Amino acid sequence: MANYVGAIDQGTTSSRFIVFDRAGNIVSVAQKEHAQIYPKPGYVEHDPLEIWRNTQEVVDKALEKKGLTARDLAAIGITNQRETTLIWDKRTGAPLHNALVWQDTRVDPIVQDLAKEGGPDRLRSKTGLPLASYFSGLKLRWLLDNVPGARAKAEAGDVLFGNIDTWLVWNLTGGPAGGRHITDVTNASRTQLMNLHSLTWDEEILNLFEIPKACLPTILSSSEVYGDASGVLAGVPIAGILGDQQAALVGQTCFQPGEAKNTYGTGCFMLMNTGEKPYPSTCGLLTTVGYRFGTAKTVYALEGSIAIAGALVQWLRDNLGIIGSSTDIEPLARSVEDNGGVTIVPAFSGLFAPHWNADARGLIGGLTRFVTKGHIARAALEATAFQTREVLDAMAKDTGIAVKELRTDGGMVINELLMQFQADVLNVPVIRPQVIETTALGAAYAAGLATGFWTGTDELERNWAVDKRWKPSMEAARRDRLNAEWTKAVARSLDWAG
Ligand code: ADP
Repeated sequence: MANYVGAIDQGTTSSRFIVFDRAGNIVSVAQKEHAQIYPKPGYVEHDPLEIWRNTQEVVDKALEKKGLTARDLAAIGITNQRETTLIWDKRTGAPLHNALVWQDTRVDPIVQDLAKEGGPDRLRSKTGLPLASYFSGLKLRWLLDNVPGARAKAEAGDVLFGNIDTWLVWNLTGGPAGGRHITDVTNASRTQLMNLHSLTWDEEILNLFEIPKACLPTILSSSEVYGDASGVLAGVPIAGILGDQQAALVGQTCFQPGEAKNTYGTGCFMLMNTGEKPYPSTCGLLTTVGYRFGTAKTVYALEGSIAIAGALVQWLRDNLGIIGSSTDIEPLARSVEDNGGVTIVPAFSGLFAPHWNADARGLIGGLTRFVTKGHIARAALEATAFQTREVLDAMAKDTGIAVKELRTDGGMVINELLMQFQADVLNVPVIRPQVIETTALGAAYAAGLATGFWTGTDELERNWAVDKRWKPSMEAARRDRLNAEWTKAVARSLDWAG
């Protein structure tokens, strides 16, 4: 009997395959990083074939480690870096260009152009999103306009568009030999091409963005049997797809309206379950699909997206070389009492929520001769906590709900200095669950619900357990001063272009 469910977690920096048991515990895991390609400032690309190769490799490895085979898996789910956009040839499976990663800002000029008429929020009521380079729709347009011959082939249905979920499912279900060309509602909600109310591709937006419908995948729910996998996973039903942040919402079992989680990875993403109707934001948040399990009602979420969180730690490692690995940042930051007056605003590609300003640029402020790399390390961690505070404030303003405690996950939450500082600047307890691979877990849950491996969300809620809780312990005066310093620094960063 199949005792496990597998999840492919295709992230911005790496691909993982994780096998979970019925209690939601990790049985086996394998992971592989892929290349980040920066052809010029503002451009960020991935090689789709490398991602597909790595995915197969980590599946093989994770199974092999524990002597498992496809027969041990009741289902597999997929979760993926969202918005990252690619097109490929339907007959050969060859990508026509590297994938444009969600952080890529090359379509900014198109965004500015479209915003001239009707402003940056002209598509908000339909899509829940402001015009921004972040989403897939305009990235797809760039590919169709810039790759020779792509547009004509897309119009003929010979070239297919997908986010990474679509690319993986197409390959897993046979590729050129009849692979399924599908996506789920959560990934589709990040293209800015889907109407949030009807959950279908919006003809008006397709016209505006000049996107031929023939290249778009079919939109399905996040939890149903899409087809059987081939290769090493032959015969296992692929039964769940969720964009990574929505998957974390499910993995954290935030099934009640008002429940929220914050994921600290390359970027930082807070999602709050807002129930069965899209909740409009006036404070710079995104309205998005949270999940849809089969034919059940769609659940929506409000999201605060922060572009740069762990990526700033990587920048200290790769560009400044002041740490050797990401985990070195905690002891370095602990080597000093406080930030020594330093504030870092990591607006490398503008600022996302709640500002949505493409022209903001990063800054390190408050430098004196006293400042050491310890202070820089500390300020880098604090930047994530302050950005999270801005997003939580926006959530409270938009919904009138003050979050009582924040569930956290993602690669940065092993950093206990960050977790304590986060609780301090929010003045809200911060909780780390036992399984912090909630993204993969959410995809596994979606797949296991579709095939009856799990009976319902009650069973999943019982799986969730606290590992550690951090209580706020900072004096109010200090918290207010630090938050005010941050706000001042952000104003300068927003004003950078003058
Ligand atoms: P993603 O899914 O976006 O690829 P992960 O959730 O795997 O990201 O998290 C990786 C990020 O966490 C990297 O940006 C890395 O720099 C950061 N990170 C890893 N360990 C630490 C640590 N101890 N302290 C702070 N940041 C860390």
